Amino acid sequence: MKEILVLAEHRKGELRDITLDLLARGQQLADKLRAQQAEGELTAVVLGQDVGTFADTLSSYADRVLVVEEEAMRAFNSDAYQEALAHLIKQRRPAITLIGHTAFGIDLAPALATSLDAALATDCIEVDVEGGAFTAVRPAYGGKARMSVLLRGDVRIATIQSGSAPSPSPRATRGEIVSIDSPLAGEIAYKKFLEYADTSAGEIDITQSDIVVAVGRGIGDPKNIPIVEDLASALGGVLACSRPVVDKKWLPKARQVGISGKTVQPKLYLAVGISGAFQHVSAIKGANMVVAINKDPKAPIFRVADYGIVGDLFTVVPALREKILKAKSGK
Ligand SMILES: Cc1cc2nc3c(=O)[nH]c(=O)nc-3n(C[C@H](O)[C@H](O)[C@H](O)COP(=O)(O)OP(=O)(O)OC[C@H]3O[C@@H](n4cnc5c(N)ncnc54)[C@H](O)[C@@H]3O)c2cc1C
Repeated sequence: MKEILVLAEHRKGELRDITLDLLARGQQLADKLRAQQAEGELTAVVLGQDVGTFADTLSSYADRVLVVEEEAMRAFNSDAYQEALAHLIKQRRPAITLIGHTAFGIDLAPALATSLDAALATDCIEVDVEGGAFTAVRPAYGGKARMSVLLRGDVRIATIQSGSAPSPSPRATRGEIVSIDSPLAGEIAYKKFLEYADTSAGEIDITQSDIVVAVGRGIGDPKNIPIVEDLASALGGVLACSRPVVDKKWLPKARQVGISGKTVQPKLYLAVGISGAFQHVSAIKGANMVVAINKDPKAPIFRVADYGIVGDLFTVVPALREKILKAKSGK
């Protein structure tokens, strides 16, 4: 049997969305292995304390769920996770282990791969298997190019970008839940979880909103930002921005979308006066719909937009806001 191992990610008592992305990818690989007569099976691993409800949820998406309960893993600790996962991987010899390309995964995967002398591909947008050979596609040069890499050897680990796979549907039959004794030998000496440091009090978390309206350098002056902010409010969304807006200190860093800011996956992403540099658009790939307003018809943002409005934002944005408010009031 060739096992695809997926590490569930949870934070503050909730499974993170990346887990479903990983399960979707894992299922694709398991199906592909089965089609190649290789008996692929999907196993989710959940590490933590009091994670029974996560195991229940995960069992709807995997053939089995391995649960390791351990106080030292109540919150994510890369050292503890590394020790526990290394133990499981040595014992089970999965065909590949999938981890989220998240702050957790970036911390964990390289050290885990080194400790196991494993092949590691990070930041993957695709993973495939053909004739027993696992390959991964990952972006290069900040998303301008893509490279396909072969994961050599028997121990393989890949970190997967969020939003790179459609959400899986729950299965009709649940997988089995297997409880495993914690393999942690002693205290985790070097890393301790202290607290979650959230975005500063009062600051909005742009990653949590279904509607994100982002303003770019095209706004020209910080005194014009309320024009776009008003549009965001009319839509019931939050205001975000591109990097120059943060560099100029017009908006705080927590509002920045992009490779050096935040990745967002809203239902609607509305880009206003944003050119569409790859450092920006790489972080909106998971958006269901992208709408762009830009006065330059050749702006690269229109290549990724589902709907584009070519025009001056100072005319288009107030007009759009008025229409939205009218539609909402039913007049
Ligand atoms: C290592 C690195 C990391 C980076 N990380 C990020 C990141 O995380 N996020 C990010 O956003 N950028 C990032 N950048 C910067 C990125 O390369 C771009 O410079 C930046 O995204 C451009 O921001 P912009 O689109 O707001 O500005 P511009 O590129 O200047 O575009 C402004 C746009 O507004 C339009 N415009 C102007 N006036 C109007 C008007 N009146 N009406 C309508 N449209 C108008 C223009 O046609 C133009 O397309 C990074 C760069 C590097 C090198």
